[in-house]
Amino acid sequence: MIQALSPAREAIKMAQLWRVVHGLTFPINAGALAQEWSRNVAPEAPIGELQARELKGFEGGLFWLKERKVWALLYHPHPDLPGRSNFTVAHEFGHYVLHRKLQEAFQCSQSATLGITGARIEREADQFASYLLMPIDDYTQQVRGRRITLDLLGECADRYGVSLTASILKWLEFTDQAAVAVMGREGMLHWWKASGSAKKYTFGTLQEGMELPLGSLAVCADQALSTADYRSGVEHPEGVWPIRLPVREMVVLSDRYDMSISLLVLDAPGVEHPDAPDEDMTTTLPSL
Ligand SMILES: [Zn+2]
Repeated sequence: MIQALSPAREAIKMAQLWRVVHGLTFPINAGALAQEWSRNVAPEAPIGELQARELKGFEGGLFWLKERKVWALLYHPHPDLPGRSNFTVAHEFGHYVLHRKLQEAFQCSQSATLGITGARIEREADQFASYLLMPIDDYTQQVRGRRITLDLLGECADRYGVSLTASILKWLEFTDQAAVAVMGREGMLHWWKASGSAKKYTFGTLQEGMELPLGSLAVCADQALSTADYRSGVEHPEGVWPIRLPVREMVVLSDRYDMSISLLVLDAPGVEHPDAPDEDMTTTLPSL
């Protein structure tokens, strides 16, 4: 029986190995690390091919090439979004480290490489990529004492060589703040993830498949707002989103995938005034 490895633990070990060689430099180059590590640890079955290739319907794949006795790691190229590729490569590297004895072929969709699929091995590979590329100790230092905006999380995405989505989801994993990321598709709530301290406020309120709220930035693009507003956030009173608190909503809209990602930071102390939503707050923009 093959003993299951912990994705987070294996990734943390790997990130430490990277630091020994490269010091505290980011981003971690998942492809270089994958090839080097596999050659050392499994010389009889290393990752011998690493290629950007158009993969119809897939973001990445890992395939055993029987004749050559090497694994091929393929990833969909995103010249304009290099972070997407680095994360996908790290995800496939995760399959190599954790699952290569279980299967000889892995084909991973966009949802899988964003960690929003139910399949266990996909979630594990995603967790591996997340822990490998975004060490929590370093990430915590980057955001400590700073107001969370998409610009700040975007800086972190650049630092770690990942997409903004990946950096948002990672931040939710370790932050003390009450916050929720909501992914929308064609006006519907497609998927969501809450930080630990937000769960008690969102429990039973957000459902996959529900319509996104009409007053949200995700749905109601306000021409009066600039991109900077969308990225630093607009304050909503309680009730705009079905959450029992006022929230600050930041949003990224992606035409390419017909998707929106709203990051809601809950005004947790506002729980003291649950019956007094302040209508005026909708147009009050915070300044940095
Ligand atoms: Zn996968």
